[in-house]
Amino acid sequence: MKKTHGRAEHYNALTISRLHKSGVLEHGYIGGWQWDNGKASIGIKTIKQQLILNYTSKGKPFNYPVQIVTTPCNYGGVRYWFECPNCHKRVGKLYIAENLMFECRKCQNLNYATQQNDKLGSVTTVLCRLRNRLNWEYENALPLPIYKQIKPKGMHETTFQRLVARHEYIEWKRNKICVQNFKAFAKRYGLESELLD
Ligand SMILES: [Zn+2]
Repeated sequence: MKKTHGRAEHYNALTISRLHKSGVLEHGYIGGWQWDNGKASIGIKTIKQQLILNYTSKGKPFNYPVQIVTTPCNYGGVRYWFECPNCHKRVGKLYIAENLMFECRKCQNLNYATQQNDKLGSVTTVLCRLRNRLNWEYENALPLPIYKQIKPKGMHETTFQRLVARHEYIEWKRNKICVQNFKAFAKRYGLESELLD
């Protein structure tokens, strides 16, 4: 899948440093968060290292927990991060989009692909999600060469083996759909005999 830029800017984003400066990350905080345009706002409740985001959309109430993580700074103190509720990576920003969930930019772009809602699209999304989780570099959903399939630092060996096996299966499934699509295409245009060459 190609990287897309600029899309996330259209969404309302939560920025960890701004929440921190405003005291939202302190345990016991109850209040709201409004975006600059004043058109959108959410409620936030902070319980220990967790933010509970409260909002209503299309008449449906959301109670969305987001985990806060900290890492030590070189000069003392800590740095705050969101843990993306979908891919569990540490990020400084979360975006809300059409699916009404707060997720990192990478996940939002993948969700956009899911909305296309075709077989190939959804299997591709699963594939890219796995690669994100494995921290593997990729430009698109084509099969990855084996030398790119390195175990991420700190990942447990059994987790890694499980994800690699799943990745292999999903990649195979995706290739199969591609071949099916291609065969259907050839049939539609009367090119089946060309495939046998
Ligand atoms: Zn994410």
